Amino acid sequence: MTVDEKPAPRAKPWIYEAPVYKGGQAEIDGQRAVKLSSNENPFGCSPMAKEAYARAAEDLALYPEGSAAILRKAIAEAHGVDPERIVCSAGSDEVLFLLARAYLTEGDAIIKSEYGFAIYGIAARQMKAEIINAPEDDLVPSVDAFLQAMTPEVRLVFVANPNNPTGAYLPFSEIKRLHAGLPSDVVLVIDEAYAEYIDQEDYETALELVEGAANIVVTRTFSKIHGLAGLRIGWCYTSPEIVDVLNRVRSPFNASVPAQQAAAAALKDKEFIHASFKHNAIWLRTMTEEISALGLRVYPSVCNFVLVEFPETLGKTALDADRYLQSKGFIVRPMTGYGLPNCLRISIGKEEHCRGVINALTEFQQASGS
Ligand SMILES: *Cc1c(COP(=O)(O)O)cnc(C)c1O
Repeated sequence: MTVDEKPAPRAKPWIYEAPVYKGGQAEIDGQRAVKLSSNENPFGCSPMAKEAYARAAEDLALYPEGSAAILRKAIAEAHGVDPERIVCSAGSDEVLFLLARAYLTEGDAIIKSEYGFAIYGIAARQMKAEIINAPEDDLVPSVDAFLQAMTPEVRLVFVANPNNPTGAYLPFSEIKRLHAGLPSDVVLVIDEAYAEYIDQEDYETALELVEGAANIVVTRTFSKIHGLAGLRIGWCYTSPEIVDVLNRVRSPFNASVPAQQAAAAALKDKEFIHASFKHNAIWLRTMTEEISALGLRVYPSVCNFVLVEFPETLGKTALDADRYLQSKGFIVRPMTGYGLPNCLRISIGKEEHCRGVINALTEFQQASGS
């Protein structure tokens, strides 16, 4: 009898049914290529963050202080918020999983918007909770749809503002209306991973709503504009009751010292943040305009990526475009997993990469299907 015939350990059955998150591809045929598939900062991170990270290497033998006091203090100063209401985490994804772990069990449900960020559903399924998808209006989340989707089983409501992969956002008035329409014992999670990129009159971070409510969690990350995705560091802002819950379910040293030090330094480098913002604003607009001019639909985005829709015509599909872009050395993100098989999500890269993508798509549009 071989080892293989003996029964293997089995996890809880629903664990095998939870989808596995698939990150952006990084290589083409084993070769490093221009990666525009994960919404990373094309300029890397602040040199100040790198220095702080290197300095932290001196003390790697020591455990972190468990509450991430270094980083909570830096965040409180940078954002003018209360350090006692902050919980730091290994990327903001960790907060999403912690909330699921703490608030969901079999028979419970979450609401997310139809094309909301994938992690919400994965976190819910790991806890055997149901996912209710609130339909969107032309790829924009709808507050009415969220409110109509409410059932007594719902414990968590997730909204990414702005949203990945669509790039759409809800004005502050709509976020307030969503919160006002939810029962006080349902947690509203507002995921602001791209908040630093948005510059719209009617947009406001929901950080300021937290202090007036017991049931709001705002999540933020250092992975996007701060360019620290590889370090895994994020945070959330919430009520003292939810802070207490998160501190009970997280692992005791979930934010490493080098990550805290680098993130704290990144917050201070206003010049780097502004340069990243400015570059993005210019190229987000250029990519949107020039790709639209090729006859493709580009959904309005306020993030550091565009969502481009391709026709179903043989030779001109999203899949064909993806293949063509790969042949030119560009990796973008197919959206089949999101139920958007005709779309590609393309991160805003450096100028030469944005130009390269525009040129490649121009050639693709001219060549294919003819
Ligand atoms: C990138 C992203 C995150 C952040 O993930 P990290 O775990 O902080 O790297 C969270 N939410 C959305 C919508 C994102 O796109």
